[in-house]
Amino acid sequence: MQLNIAHLYPDLLNIYGDRGNITAFIKRCRWRNIGVNVHEINTGEVINPEFYDFYFIGGGQDQQQIAVSHELRAQKPFLREAMDNNAVFLAICGGYQLLGHYYRPHKGEELKGISLLDAYTVAGNTRYIGNVTVGTALPLGKEKTLTGFENHSGLTYLEGNTRPLGVVITGNGNNGGDKTEGAHEKNVFGTYLHGSLLPKNPHFTDYLIRLSLERNYGQVSLEEINDELEWAAHKKAVKRKY
Ligand code: GLN
Repeated sequence: MQLNIAHLYPDLLNIYGDRGNITAFIKRCRWRNIGVNVHEINTGEVINPEFYDFYFIGGGQDQQQIAVSHELRAQKPFLREAMDNNAVFLAICGGYQLLGHYYRPHKGEELKGISLLDAYTVAGNTRYIGNVTVGTALPLGKEKTLTGFENHSGLTYLEGNTRPLGVVITGNGNNGGDKTEGAHEKNVFGTYLHGSLLPKNPHFTDYLIRLSLERNYGQVSLEEINDELEWAAHKKAVKRKY
């Protein structure tokens, strides 16, 4: 089996090691002999929505988000078509904010998002920095926690059919108020969890791989691999206080 991955604007949105998500996704495919092509999509390149199974976009400061928001708006029809065709998206923090309707910083222009998620973000007065653990209802198997690290001042609110990734156990999540963290609709997933997220959440990585494969191959089951190290990292991170 073969997957095609689009890594969106890695030169602009890749803070706190978010590139580690792509590395974890690729490794867990290759360890199972699943072929993977990774294309970096940079400013000015047009996306072919037929080609890609999995899209990744990382986090970034407001400045980089301004540049990417203009780019994403030009790509909106292609990315909407990809979402409608069940492509899988993982968006972290600043990238997550831009998949919603808008990100309104304290100063400067409101950054228009591409509304793949029914969510919006406004600048807050506190920067949330710390470890986060979330209880998720996603069908990830016996482990129901996701763990990572947050560093954002944006406050995100979900609307309509967009559901949270989970409920905050430790940390602040979307807005430090409604106990939600992240968002998902169809196969589009957004989260504030840096870390990077996927290396120490192998169950979520495998879930995203399965969804990405199902587009072209129907229902698949993944070969078990030794996740001792990944779960040791997960459990250690879950124990961390905020
Ligand atoms: N600039 C946005 C915020 O502070 C996103 C930050 C990030 O991607 N870590 O909320």
